[in-house]
Amino acid sequence: MLEIHDLQKSFGDLHVLRGINLNIQKGDVVAVLGSSGSGKTTLLRCMNFLEHADAGTMVFDGQQVELSRITHAQIHALRRRTGFVFQNYNLFANKTALQNVTEGLVIARKMDKHQADEIARAALDKVGMGDRCDHYPSQLSGGQQQRVAIARSLVNQPRVLLLDEPLGALDLKLRKEMQLELKRLQREMNITFVYVTHDQEEALTMSDTVVVMNKGNIQQIGSPQDIYNEPRNAFVAKFIGDSNIVDGIMEKDFLVSFGGQEFACVDRGFKPREPVQVVVRPEDVDIVPPSAGKLTGLVREVIFKGVHFEMHVDVEGKEWLIHSTQASQPGELIGMNIGPDEIHIMSREEV
Ligand code: ADP
Ligand code: MG
Repeated sequence: MLEIHDLQKSFGDLHVLRGINLNIQKGDVVAVLGSSGSGKTTLLRCMNFLEHADAGTMVFDGQQVELSRITHAQIHALRRRTGFVFQNYNLFANKTALQNVTEGLVIARKMDKHQADEIARAALDKVGMGDRCDHYPSQLSGGQQQRVAIARSLVNQPRVLLLDEPLGALDLKLRKEMQLELKRLQREMNITFVYVTHDQEEALTMSDTVVVMNKGNIQQIGSPQDIYNEPRNAFVAKFIGDSNIVDGIMEKDFLVSFGGQEFACVDRGFKPREPVQVVVRPEDVDIVPPSAGKLTGLVREVIFKGVHFEMHVDVEGKEWLIHSTQASQPGELIGMNIGPDEIHIMSREEV
């Protein structure tokens, strides 16, 4: 439905977006995930023409535009199909919730006030704010203001909603609730979401597709499972959660060595004896008696985390992180096994 090809954007000498390619399917939630300064907001602003891209092409519903030469008429037409939800809500302080939502309908769409009110009330109902139509932003909590901002973007019936860290200012509990509600709204209304966040857990929870960005480049695009289980490089592996990353050698297809041992794995297609990096998630290490383990490790530290114990284990001079529901004791020697499916191989490329 919406494609972006080779989008480039600089601010002076600062090359913020370095050739972004995206292909967004109708009805999908696409999470754009990256640390602060990676270019997420700039990407979203370019997609809504709040920022002028230096180069690149956009194809929206089969209509192709050259972003560097886009006309006002094209921007106007494309903007009608997209909505934008800002991180800081951007509500008018001197207008009520209802007036904030009707404003665009009355002014930009020249709708009569009666009809606009009706549509706005329905949208506020939908986000659970039907009983606060007459409240001013200062009388609403952060979460409630964000609901109003979302209602305001929904009344234009956008095909794509661009959301810039929409829950970033909320506390953890409220954020979790709003994540579920946003997902519900998205399903009910079948709107495509492009959802920017720096929170990897939020990205995995909310989306069908995760786009991992770093320094203006896309590092990987994939389903949450793909990104988590098959990170393409060390940056993605580290960004997306705790993981053990160790140097290894790909002996041949389906066989990798690390920590002085050979392990069966499911990866192939590397050069014989190619140096690689091996990723193992903390929850994927089986703890066994030392004599039964391929690797042995010395437990340094054990921290209770509620659902599991987090253990820091010394394996041949390298610290491993292991999550287990059973606690070992600091100072204990343990055996460690890792199944072929739990071993993920990456090229040893620089990122
Ligand atoms: P993110 O949203 O991922 O935190 P941004 O897209 O906001 O990142 O910013 C990416 C980089 O571009 C940052 O280094 C930021 O300082 C810079 N930047 C963003 N907007 C402007 C601007 N209007 N003028 C100059 N530099 C900018
Ligand atoms: Mg930002």
